[in-house]
Amino acid sequence: MKVGVYVCHCGSNIAGMVDVAEVARWAADLPDVAVARDYRFMCSSLGQELIQDDIREFGLDRVVVASCTPRMHEPTFQRAVAEGGLNPYFFEMANIREQCSWVHDDYEEATAKAKALVEAAVLRVRYHQPLLEHTVPIQPATLVVGAGITGIQAALELANANYPVYLVEREPSIGGRMAQLDETFPTLDCSA
Ligand code: SF4
Repeated sequence: MKVGVYVCHCGSNIAGMVDVAEVARWAADLPDVAVARDYRFMCSSLGQELIQDDIREFGLDRVVVASCTPRMHEPTFQRAVAEGGLNPYFFEMANIREQCSWVHDDYEEATAKAKALVEAAVLRVRYHQPLLEHTVPIQPATLVVGAGITGIQAALELANANYPVYLVEREPSIGGRMAQLDETFPTLDCSA
């Protein structure tokens, strides 16, 4: 197994509080790590090409990027890894920005924490299995259990979106608690 590790500066967002070069140097000695680098902006096209070139040159079969939250760029890097020839799920992201540089004010401790996050990602990615995405037919009909106000509204919205709906109710009538009320604030309308 050959893991590539990429530690992002994000300008000064990460590099201002974490010694990214030291984290990359240190990561090079982790188990199965074949190459470890730091780079200013990993999500840039040059950053993504760096990963793809290393996949070819070093024969990488796992990739770790230590940068921002996966909510922001996990799809970016999964796509880059896939275009580099790997299964996109042979990728792991360590969040050393939102969960490290942005929330700490001690350079040494933030650097130590970044190392711990990178180490966890490297150890984890070695267990990743390839996943395949494919499309399967689904049953679009929906069962809504309970015909109170919420159930009725949910059923109506699904029906208005052209899905078949089955609305079930255990009581003899629909309307739930609401139907038991006489008049409701503020219009004093009849609930039923
Ligand atoms: S990958 Fe994330 S942390 Fe790195 S430069 Fe892009 S936005 Fe910043």
